[in-house]
Amino acid sequence: MTQPAYLEHSLRVHQFHGLQPGPRLIVLGAVHGNEVAGVRAIEQMVAQLDTGAVRILRGCLTLVPITNPLAHRLNTRSGDRNLNRNLRPTALPQDFEDRIGNVLCPLLAAHDGLLDLHSFNSQGEAFSLIGPENNTDPLEPFGQADQEARLARHLGPVRIVEGWMRAYELGVKNRRERSRQAGLTLDTDASYGVGTTEYMRSQGGWAVTLECGQHADPHAPAVGLKAIRQALALLGMAQITLEAPPASHEVLRLAEVVDRLHADDRFEREWVSFDPVWKDEPIGIRHDGTVVRSPGDGRIVFPNVKAEPGFEWFYFAQRSPRSLAG
Ligand SMILES: [Zn+2]
Repeated sequence: MTQPAYLEHSLRVHQFHGLQPGPRLIVLGAVHGNEVAGVRAIEQMVAQLDTGAVRILRGCLTLVPITNPLAHRLNTRSGDRNLNRNLRPTALPQDFEDRIGNVLCPLLAAHDGLLDLHSFNSQGEAFSLIGPENNTDPLEPFGQADQEARLARHLGPVRIVEGWMRAYELGVKNRRERSRQAGLTLDTDASYGVGTTEYMRSQGGWAVTLECGQHADPHAPAVGLKAIRQALALLGMAQITLEAPPASHEVLRLAEVVDRLHADDRFEREWVSFDPVWKDEPIGIRHDGTVVRSPGDGRIVFPNVKAEPGFEWFYFAQRSPRSLAG
């Protein structure tokens, strides 16, 4: 894949200001460099704006097709590191993602809402991720749950996942305990779980992640493009017909994250995200023979056979009590 060399020294941003006041929406592609569905979707959106097929009438639309240019050139998830973890401005940037963060964070903060376009490794259907319910807890205080729910309903996918920061915090707690016992240095800072959407919420905005499909799924760019267009319609920023949302959604809450502890820890079988699991069902086997069992009836999410020891191996999710109606 070729791209202009300047991209690694700058962040390419397309911006369209309507002449009437309105919401400020930012759309990101390739926060993970090998996830190109969002890049293609944004390119197609820019083409529709250039030809006048879509016009931004109200507010401001910002499109960032390649948010991690280094990782995108390498065709990998990360450049020096995962841009979607520990995202914050830093006074003394240590790596490429720190430098991107110093440009990206103020850009996010200058908007009301974020649509972050990703794709995933294993086969499966597109899904969305939203933030927590409204709360004043110090972990992730939030007041715009209705806005995120409304957008998620209209993006297309029927499956919606929530509870990332809470599950992550629990995982970090377990990790901290293990690392204390073993005298290891692991990522035990809960802020490690802060990516683009969490940063956006920390700045008073709302944010929805759309996982458009498998990385190479030829339909994934169209899923992303439809989501951008429906977001513009819902926010009243362009004259696009707002389609009726699916009749019902499946809302799943991430309940737990389980780390891989050893290079010989292996899954019991080849799991695919959202495979159903039953309480005590064997999910994996540790290198010492310990069987890792499902903590309850639910779904396995983001199983990662390549997880490095000490990092997220799989998540466990259950049906969320939340309703998105409204
Ligand atoms: Zn991603």
